[in-house]
Amino acid sequence: MGAGFPDFRLGSVLATSFTGTLSERRGTPVERIPTPQRLVDWLVVNGLAVTSCTDAQLELARELREAIHAAATAAATQEALPADAVRVINDRSAQGRAAAVLTPDGTRQWQLGSASEVEDALGVIAADAIGILAGERDGKLALCASPTCQAAFFDTSQSRTRRWCDMNTCGNRQKKARFLANQRKNLTQRG
Ligand SMILES: [Zn+2]
Repeated sequence: MGAGFPDFRLGSVLATSFTGTLSERRGTPVERIPTPQRLVDWLVVNGLAVTSCTDAQLELARELREAIHAAATAAATQEALPADAVRVINDRSAQGRAAAVLTPDGTRQWQLGSASEVEDALGVIAADAIGILAGERDGKLALCASPTCQAAFFDTSQSRTRRWCDMNTCGNRQKKARFLANQRKNLTQRG
């Protein structure tokens, strides 16, 4: 499953993990859901158990993804939310019919309708985005400091000073770049 396709970046916030399925937006973009089956895989990994997906549903998903990205970027930079992005997010939220169900061991699961699983899953993601954009959740939207990324992410750190969308990718790369730059500086100073 998924062999040959870019890996998923898993995060704890559903809506921004979803926008992370297109990464390096300001560099060489990496599409992590290039096929309907990859969207199925991503949804399953994120607790939204769909069994199939059409090309049209993949298009809907990407439209929602870009709408969340645009709205979250605007929110992170204190700009007005783009009206068309808000419309797409609201449409997806309104058309989803997922039900939150409680398991016997006290965890939440999403129950999706059989006829429109993907639309229901997208509704859950859209509602998650609305919760963040409306400021209902504890955290702050910010933009990744990597110049080739600039992804909007949800900072839930105590100090609200997180700089990278993902410590394992953007954060690490930046740390390595700084390390190499310092090494070069030390060498020239010594020489
Ligand atoms: Zn990043």
